[in-house]
Amino acid sequence: MLEDVLEELDCPWCSGPRPFEVPPCADGHGEACPERVCTACSGALLLGADPAPSARRQHLAVVA
Ligand SMILES: [Zn+2]
Ligand SMILES: [Zn+2]
Repeated sequence: MLEDVLEELDCPWCSGPRPFEVPPCADGHGEACPERVCTACSGALLLGADPAPSARRQHLAVVA
């Protein structure tokens, strides 16, 4: 079992650095999944795409 590796990223919703985790990927990205979910507010960021967060605050059904 792999340990969750938490990356610290600037969370636009928390207005500061928060640990982000990779959510379970349902889109077939595998280990290259660009999704990161804030462990504090569950806001979802997509890395390597639009640097701006998605306009709508999207909560994924992920419980850390
Ligand atoms: Zn993915
Ligand atoms: Zn956050």
